[in-house]
Amino acid sequence: MVRAIDYTLARRAVLAELAAGTRSRDDVCDAHPELLRAARNVGEPAGEPCPVCAGDGLVLVSYVFGDGLRRANGRCVADPAELEALQSRHDEFDRFVVEVCVACGWNHLGRRELRGRRHAVAEAPGSRRAGAGEVAGGPAVDGASDQSEGGRRG
Ligand SMILES: [Zn+2]
Repeated sequence: MVRAIDYTLARRAVLAELAAGTRSRDDVCDAHPELLRAARNVGEPAGEPCPVCAGDGLVLVSYVFGDGLRRANGRCVADPAELEALQSRHDEFDRFVVEVCVACGWNHLGRRELRGRRHAVAEAPGSRRAGAGEVAGGPAVDGASDQSEGGRRG
């Protein structure tokens, strides 16, 4: 199992603030042009509608960060094979998975994964959404993810 920190709760808090009017849509739909470009070019469909505009432009973009990554530090990694290659060559790095809507510009950090040889795991195919996983160095978060109320607008 990949050691990961899930930002589902933070995401829900932002969406709740948006619904309550304490945050503006401009404030949360502020995807950087570079991020939008990456989302259009290499984003993987998120498989769910955008929580802000309810459109189907929601994709996931991954970035890797780590002192030992050198040239790859901060790179957008779209290809699973490339991720595997990095994983086999480096002891430790972080992978950030960001969700971005190419239609409205909504963006939020979805999860942070600890990767690299030190955290090497045998990942079963198709298991990437299995459970919230282990929360590294934090309190246990209950895994009840309620994704049934997308598209709520205020
Ligand atoms: Zn959207």
